[in-house]
Amino acid sequence: MDRERTAVRVGIFGGTFDPVHVGHLAIANAALESVPLDRVVFVLARRSPLKERGPVAGEADRLAMLELAVAGEPRFSVSRVELERDGPSYTVDTLESFAGADELFLILGGDAIAELPRWKDPDRIARLATLVVAERPGAPSAPNDGSSSLLVFDAPRLDISARELRARAARGRSLRYLVPDPVWGHIEARGLYRAEGPSSGTT
Ligand code: ATP
Repeated sequence: MDRERTAVRVGIFGGTFDPVHVGHLAIANAALESVPLDRVVFVLARRSPLKERGPVAGEADRLAMLELAVAGEPRFSVSRVELERDGPSYTVDTLESFAGADELFLILGGDAIAELPRWKDPDRIARLATLVVAERPGAPSAPNDGSSSLLVFDAPRLDISARELRARAARGRSLRYLVPDPVWGHIEARGLYRAEGPSSGTT
């Protein structure tokens, strides 16, 4: 039997998802189709070691939004593995926790791949997973060094970021059609990202 074909191809897609938006979902879906992958696991980071500021919304809200966002796609799931570890979230530790029978692919936006050399243990990351990169408007193109552990996959280029969505919401603007409807419902119901920010960080 062909062992290559029997391994489950799992995409690991980490982020602070503050909030999860259509850019994230569109590239995860493109990764399913064009890498291709059997499933994608969205791994919610407690906080990114490289971002100066921690997330605006609390863990419970970000997790709830992520679960609402993936509910319609059985090949998508959410992992809490990084929430269960203390301290900042290191991708190498996350990949170690998934290493086993499956074939791992680490899904990254173009901005994230540019930062990879600053991550903890990038060589080990590249040994644990094939890096699959979605080019992102405004980010440098991924290096095409012919390395078999880095693949730029065909994904829509969507100029959308969580930072910009938080700024829109803070101005009282709608995020409808920029995040899935149930996610927008959660943001409205919880009053997240408003300038006065009454409920950020609480459950
Ligand atoms: P923020 O604006 O708060 O920094 P973000 O929108 O970049 O957030 P993250 O949760 O930091 O979202 O991103 C998780 C992953 O998704 C990263 O690998 C990032 O590069 C990628 N990503 C996010 N938005 C896009 C996009 N529009 N196109 C391609 N990749 C994206």
